Amino acid sequence: MTRRRIKPLSAAVAGKVAAGEVIERPAAALKELIENSLDAGAASVDIVVGGGGADLLQVQDDGEGIIAEDLPSALMRYATSKIESEEDFTTVRTFGFRGEALASLAAVSEFSIASRPPASAHGYVYAPDMQAPRPQPMPHGTIITARALFGEFPARRRFLRTPATEAAHCANAATVAALSAPQTAFSLTVNNRQRLRLEAAADHAARLTAVFPKLHDNVLPLAESAGVLQIHGGIFAPRLGATGKSIGQFFYVNGRFVRDRLLRRAVAEALRGLAHDGEPGYALFLQVPPAMVDVNMHPAKLEVRFMEPRAIFEFVRRAVGKVMAVPLGTPLRADDLPVGNIPPPLTSPAAVAESTSGAWPSPRADSRAATTTWRQMFGEMPPPDKSAPALPAALFGGEPLGRALGQLHDIYIISENHTGLVVVDMHAAHERILYEELKTAFDKQPPPMQKLLTPAVAALSPLQAAALSEHGGELPGLTAYLADEHTGAVSEVASIIARRCDPALLLIEILEAAAEAAEANQAFVLRDAALSSMACHAAVRANCRLSLDEMNALLRRMEETERSGACNHGRPCWQQIDRAYFDRIFRRGR
Ligand code: ADP
Ligand code: MG
Repeated sequence: MTRRRIKPLSAAVAGKVAAGEVIERPAAALKELIENSLDAGAASVDIVVGGGGADLLQVQDDGEGIIAEDLPSALMRYATSKIESEEDFTTVRTFGFRGEALASLAAVSEFSIASRPPASAHGYVYAPDMQAPRPQPMPHGTIITARALFGEFPARRRFLRTPATEAAHCANAATVAALSAPQTAFSLTVNNRQRLRLEAAADHAARLTAVFPKLHDNVLPLAESAGVLQIHGGIFAPRLGATGKSIGQFFYVNGRFVRDRLLRRAVAEALRGLAHDGEPGYALFLQVPPAMVDVNMHPAKLEVRFMEPRAIFEFVRRAVGKVMAVPLGTPLRADDLPVGNIPPPLTSPAAVAESTSGAWPSPRADSRAATTTWRQMFGEMPPPDKSAPALPAALFGGEPLGRALGQLHDIYIISENHTGLVVVDMHAAHERILYEELKTAFDKQPPPMQKLLTPAVAALSPLQAAALSEHGGELPGLTAYLADEHTGAVSEVASIIARRCDPALLLIEILEAAAEAAEANQAFVLRDAALSSMACHAAVRANCRLSLDEMNALLRRMEETERSGACNHGRPCWQQIDRAYFDRIFRRGR
């Protein structure tokens, strides 16, 4: 075969090739259009989607518009009004600045743009096949219409999923934008049915509530800052099936939605072990000085690059970890049953009093604590629903987990508290307590160690051996060394766990964690994993008989422990079953 000559593509073909990178599916085009509207300062954005967006995409806004003479330029590749020089890259605050989106979309669809700046008496419409813009009556703002997306690219069109799926992606793009721009009103119409209608909202919290109206009771608000870094938003409490999958995980950096591995890992680290049914959903807004972050990457990809990735990682992890450690205290109500979901962490009355700064007169204000904190952080929220407290708290002397009645099948502790019955998974609860105690102990100083009479030895896989030779000196809670190529030896373990754990088994678990941590290159992953293994090894096993005194002692320690709602593996530690539930199943008072 004779080789063809190398020639530059014609501008038109080059444009179509490049377009594919920006516009891989209708939702990607929609994202660009909405961002343009937001960049134009729109107070409202109305979106119309037909046939999954492939047949019709239209975005109308009431922003600053484009003057008639500029309409043809708006469709040119690398034509933008948003930056002028290279220096502007570092300070750009608009979503767009590449000048690629409209050119790309126009290259792969039947495209038109109509605009009327507020100062103009008329609007003008322009399309690529027109000689010049033509006057057209219209309200102030801009209307962009793209029909028959990929109409001339059957191969690309075949890659699109069903219209319903593509429409769902479009709706998600609208949600992503709506969360980032609370002050802008949005509407979304899909196949002539209105799917979303959001009024302008005061702030992120109000918008979050409007987007997820059913979840507002379960949002853990978060607002932290450290130096130049600031983060706020909300985590959806990991309960009632509210997982990240069902709600979404929305992370924004300087207002820009990102899907960034570093940030996701930071959140996942903070939430690890606290969510049994999957990762919780969240909407988090991180503010970073523009000079510390590079958003100038691929337009359709959503990663960012940070100057100080470690600092950002730590900041996010701590901020989220802190909010998860704050007791929430909304007891599960009878309506929430059947049980099987994770209740929020337990609240001690003291913690509630502190977190509400005395705003609530009664010491048992905890069922309203979540809303209070939310309101303090973000302003007005709808009133919480009033679940009636049953017995006076005084009877239980400020012991939210109540008094132990006995044990069920040697696995669960049953106790009575002021709203009903509490069921505690002994092993899970003890493990959580030990884990928190270990963390506190290790945070302060290396804990006292206890020498083993004879070293405990463990046969190691090559990977485990490698981890031991690399991390031998820094394994938390034990002193270990490589005895030979395939054998690890433990000479000391932390005294707190010495009595209760099998050092050889513990070594293997910790080395496994170390291998994982090495991959993540994160020392604290190793530490937390190690402490978690220790806690699990040392905790009372199920099938262990406890006296009532021992049970009560465990309950009291749980009350003092942060994050006592779930064990380290994310299984719930305890469940509240309100008396109302029993009243209901026994048809009392009906
Ligand atoms: P970019 O957003 O990167 O500048 P685009 O191709 O998305 O590039 O848009 C090109 C230009 O068209 C923008 O810089 C802006 O001046 C103008 N523009 C696009 N959409 C709108 C809109 N909805 N309202 C006002 N101006 C717009
Ligand atoms: Mg743009």
